[in-house]
Amino acid sequence: MLSEFELIARYFSRPPAPDSRTALGVGDDCALMTPAPGMQLAISSDMLVAGRHFFPDADPVMLGHKCLAVNLSDLAAMGAQPIAFTLALALPEARAEWLEPFSRGMLALADEHGCELIGGDTTKGPLTISITVFGEVPPQQALRRDAARAGDDLWVSGTLGDARLALAAYRQEYPLNAEELALAAPRMHAPTPRVALGLALRGIAHAAIDISDGLAGDLGHILQRSHVGATLDVDALPAGAALQQRDLHLRRRFTLSGGDDYELCFSAPVRQRDAVYNAAQAAGTAVTRIGSIDAALGLRLLDASGEALQETPDSFDHFRS
Ligand code: ADP
Ligand code: MG
Repeated sequence: MLSEFELIARYFSRPPAPDSRTALGVGDDCALMTPAPGMQLAISSDMLVAGRHFFPDADPVMLGHKCLAVNLSDLAAMGAQPIAFTLALALPEARAEWLEPFSRGMLALADEHGCELIGGDTTKGPLTISITVFGEVPPQQALRRDAARAGDDLWVSGTLGDARLALAAYRQEYPLNAEELALAAPRMHAPTPRVALGLALRGIAHAAIDISDGLAGDLGHILQRSHVGATLDVDALPAGAALQQRDLHLRRRFTLSGGDDYELCFSAPVRQRDAVYNAAQAAGTAVTRIGSIDAALGLRLLDASGEALQETPDSFDHFRS
């Protein structure tokens, strides 16, 4: 059995990269960072609890990836550049066979984004993984939830619903064949934080949020904070590769309120349409125009022929926990 300090030294300590903001990393009472002059710090925490946010026997490589990915997704939704993170871990036991692949999955994604692990805390307890990320954004350029304006286009990145479809398969709500599961499962286990898109949308988008609890609910946060409403073209929502093959009702249900997508939903002025497409292309992430922001409060759902849907977003997903 590894001691706490052996464990930290072996799996979670690396020398700071020479060109980074980190003046002192893991090992002292605090890490020391040198913020870039004039930049604002964007800070966010997300905690993942075994049995609640992931299956306790989840593959540790993908779990390490996912825990950091959901935090980087918050920086993406703010238009912030990731710089560093801390990791607070409660572990039932210190097993090298779990810790090694967990740290490998996490640090590989960290390296992809130049986001350094600068500290944390480790304790015995029910498996819980809590990360705080730090990012940088120029003043006035963060993509805030309260910045949507009536008349804006509404956009979403990537595709929606496949993570929820994979969860449905594991819960035996819907059987998936091996091919469908191979398409859907990576969306649940290894989400891609849309960091490059968030950065490219600075100065173009108004409001943004990352979709963790389902598009309808998360868009609701933008509407509430911005004191506006929206109209959504439900049948224009881009369904994931596996969900695309399913019937219209399931497509609507899981694209609207699936959850765990970690795509960006954002608003931008109509005159910025070309700029949005160019930003998306530069970031290598597809975007789809899905509706518009209205002065009238509330969320209106339209079908492909422009008729109002009778269902409310909540009525689409009875299985959310
Ligand atoms: P303290 O008791 O002063 O809080 P700790 O003994 O908890 O210090 O941690 C020692 C060092 O290891 C600190 O620099 C802390 O940030 C770091 N650390 C602890 N746990 C982790 C972890 N899971 N990942 C990265 N760094 C960690
Ligand atoms: Mg400590």
